[in-house]
Amino acid sequence: MSILKTTALTKKFGDFTALDGVDIEVAKGEVYGFIGPNGAGKSTTIRVLLGLLKVTSGTAEIFGQDVWEDAVDIHKRVAYVPGDVNLWPNLTGGEVIDLFLKLRGSNGKTRREELIRKFDLDPTKKCRTYSKGNRQKVALVAALSTDADLYILDEPTSGLDPLMERVFQEWVREAKAQGKSILLSSHILSEVEKLCDKVAIIRQGKIIETGTLQELRHLTGTVLTVETKRPMPSLHEVGGIQGIQEKQGVLSFQVDAEELDQVIRYISGFGVVKLESSPPTLEELFMRHYEGGSSADKQEAAYHGQKLV
Ligand code: ADP
Ligand code: MG
Repeated sequence: MSILKTTALTKKFGDFTALDGVDIEVAKGEVYGFIGPNGAGKSTTIRVLLGLLKVTSGTAEIFGQDVWEDAVDIHKRVAYVPGDVNLWPNLTGGEVIDLFLKLRGSNGKTRREELIRKFDLDPTKKCRTYSKGNRQKVALVAALSTDADLYILDEPTSGLDPLMERVFQEWVREAKAQGKSILLSSHILSEVEKLCDKVAIIRQGKIIETGTLQELRHLTGTVLTVETKRPMPSLHEVGGIQGIQEKQGVLSFQVDAEELDQVIRYISGFGVVKLESSPPTLEELFMRHYEGGSSADKQEAAYHGQKLV
């Protein structure tokens, strides 16, 4: 049985369709990446899952129960990190964490201490003095020290430095080993690549791709890095090639799986000095989804690409 499942989830705000038939499914013990640019509908989906927003149509279930009707029951077994962390300004970080743990009747004291230490958080400061990164840490410590069956994490590492990101990744691996399920929304693809068993890519309220990393890679073919003795004048005219880049005489580009054979044959006519193949990163996969999109989309993809390499 799946831990979390949405079917044709649709959410309208007035005339605007924020979610358009979203289907996602998280199995027990699975880390599920929910990937998309800003405004794609990740947080809206998550708010629906938490029973904070009512759907326009479609269904959403967690532990086989309806997220709206059975929210109280479901929440006993779910921990959540919101995308925008707002805390009580006059409480200290430690007080906020304790409050969350108490509200849940959860005994997470040991985990709490450990996580505060690992995330290098000073829990004695008032929340209003915290930076975005520290507010993020407070929310993370509160959620991650809770013993839950499902963790719903909305861009949990967006304000964290790489060292802290590693602490988070370590926690995810431990939680997964214990059979916990995690829905992890992100636009940080490298993070997802390391952690997730399955990925759904959302864009403008629609899921445009789902599958294991391997399945998605299969769709996108191979990245070739090639150096030849003689230049290849009409490489760009060979079918099935995208994104040709040159660096000091070394070319790299993506090749569709079914065209690989003829591309290799073409290359071999120019005296191969070096030939490497690798699966595309999610970054490249993500960029491809923007091909044919609006130029604003492309700019955004480029921005995320730069930021995230
Ligand atoms: P993401 O989390 O992927 O960045 P969101 O789910 O926050 O995206 O937003 C999806 C789209 O829905 C955006 O265009 C956003 O402006 C819109 N939206 C979100 N919440 C509301 C709301 N309460 N009222 C109107 N529009 C909203
Ligand atoms: Mg969001």
